[in-house]
Amino acid sequence: MDSRKIIEKHKKIIGGSLRRSPAPQALAHNIAKFHKATDELATARLSDPNPPMFECKKGCSHCCSLRVEALPPEVFRIAKHLQGLESETRSKFVQSLKEAASYAAGREFKNYENPCPFLSDAGGCEIYSVRPHKCRAYFSGSVSACVKNKAAIQDAELRNAENVLANEVIQTYKKKGVVMHPVELSQGVLKALEDPSIEARWAAGDQVFDLLPERIML
Ligand code: SF4
Repeated sequence: MDSRKIIEKHKKIIGGSLRRSPAPQALAHNIAKFHKATDELATARLSDPNPPMFECKKGCSHCCSLRVEALPPEVFRIAKHLQGLESETRSKFVQSLKEAASYAAGREFKNYENPCPFLSDAGGCEIYSVRPHKCRAYFSGSVSACVKNKAAIQDAELRNAENVLANEVIQTYKKKGVVMHPVELSQGVLKALEDPSIEARWAAGDQVFDLLPERIML
């Protein structure tokens, strides 16, 4: 896989798009391009002549009980997706988000084990098209490692490429003057739904979300 070429291509696309669209809404909208690039890296790695063995399959969702961290524009993308749903479905998600956010408040990654509010009863993702990059990039070579150690055995080449891409995107956004600290998913999405004005404040450079208890700064 020539991951460097994929990363350079998408870095230009994302950087150019952010330059052309300075409106606050464009910052969140453009994160979809990052998601596309993340998916492209995974597809390229899986198309290698010697692809890594992954045991992930539909309905397997051990990793969906770990704490999910999302970037602010990813949180806004998910909130917009939920706002577009019919009200009964949206209300169901808001209730699940409230319960998950209450569990997550102040809780470190090592003490976290709670199903994601977007995990369906069948083990699928109910926001698959807009899920955060961390979910898109998480592949495991061993289900038993996911169960026993609560950690995937990841392919080093793909993980490194995803990290380089994420760092490039974060730095590009930071040049626009916005905060890119990761946010716990349920607390972030709930806040974005309850107060739509925070997107404009975030785009103006404010720190609008609670920091993770471990203070992971990017
Ligand atoms: S957003 Fe989707 S893929 Fe990510 S943890 Fe939640 S259910 Fe799983």
